[in-house]
Amino acid sequence: MVIRPNPDAPARLPKLLPDETLYSLMARVHWLNDYKNARDCCARLLGDGDQLRVADSCFDHIRFHSATRGFYGDVTRLLTRTSLSGFFHRLGTHPGVEVPRRLRPEDTDALTASGGLATLSNGRAHIWKWCPQCMQRDRDTYGVAYWHRRHQLPSVVICNEHQTPLLEATLLYRDRQQEFILPEQLPGRTRVRLACHAGVPLPAATSLGRLAEQILLDDAMDASPESVRGALVDGLAEAGLVSRMGRIGKKAFIAGWMDHYGDVARLPEFTPSLSARNVSGLVQSLSREGWVLPATTTVMLVNWLFGSWQLFREHCTWRRALSSTTGVSGGHPSKGTVSTPENARKNYRDACIAFLKSHPDATRKDFWVACPRSCRWLHTHDEKWLQRQLPATHRRKLIQLELF
Ligand SMILES: [Zn+2]
Repeated sequence: MVIRPNPDAPARLPKLLPDETLYSLMARVHWLNDYKNARDCCARLLGDGDQLRVADSCFDHIRFHSATRGFYGDVTRLLTRTSLSGFFHRLGTHPGVEVPRRLRPEDTDALTASGGLATLSNGRAHIWKWCPQCMQRDRDTYGVAYWHRRHQLPSVVICNEHQTPLLEATLLYRDRQQEFILPEQLPGRTRVRLACHAGVPLPAATSLGRLAEQILLDDAMDASPESVRGALVDGLAEAGLVSRMGRIGKKAFIAGWMDHYGDVARLPEFTPSLSARNVSGLVQSLSREGWVLPATTTVMLVNWLFGSWQLFREHCTWRRALSSTTGVSGGHPSKGTVSTPENARKNYRDACIAFLKSHPDATRKDFWVACPRSCRWLHTHDEKWLQRQLPATHRRKLIQLELF
């Protein structure tokens, strides 16, 4: 049998550079090989047959793997290293979500499918960011300046490595669909500006940037929109912003939110999350099931309420585990399911029982940390029952007393 070489296969394939985006890799494949133009390259490598676009090219895993003869290994793994898809997934959202919105199942499919090459790589199709110092170093080391994945993250306006403000380019639709564009090949009419004020230390911007990078690199974390929302509500409860009836205190929320992020309120990256209209919608969306938040807003909430990715991810993991064992959304019932005292009692008790099944030696304090809303409700409305399951005194001591 004669095996014909794949006519779309490029003759030369570059190695992946550190923190390089899929888009940048594609750009370098194009420049190393003899394609008619960038659109032709995308059509042949990515399978986007109409040859009309570059940045919005659909990414076909099988086509790419075949055309590159498996040079980059497992394509799913390649995407984990070169795209922001894992980052958005860990925050329970999608790149296309720009304001809090209710998400129906069909929306999820549409949002997942809508990410072209640039959105997959950079999170947004039109705004791309870079650090001048990283660019200089890459040029000196690798001979090319490319888009770094961690610079593109929502809520990142400072280079974590150099502590310098990022520059950001707004690329016109026509330009980005015609050619591959790297930081040193911006079309002349591209608008470039600082993503952050130069020379002014902004602690909130620095901590948000660090947090976003941790989220990007946490491949082991799995999440869902429900577990993320549930963990955020836990954080609000621990901050004293949720009433006994489960309502988020809007005035106190807005005051705390605006106070915490006052120093970044004028930066375009954060303005949408801090506008009066959107903050009001944010409080409402946190109170309801089925709503998702923009990635920037979610990173800001995690930073504000938990101050640590590790702590937040533990809450998410717990919420996911509880949801799968009890069917109770995230360890406490949603607003809709707490329609009667009987429902509430049953659901909060279920949450406690599920927790004890997974953590037989847990104390009441452990339950409080993992599921504060359920613990608080039971403590207030069902104390006798809670006392039998989780005595206020140290449970381990009681177990030991029973043994002897
Ligand atoms: Zn840098």
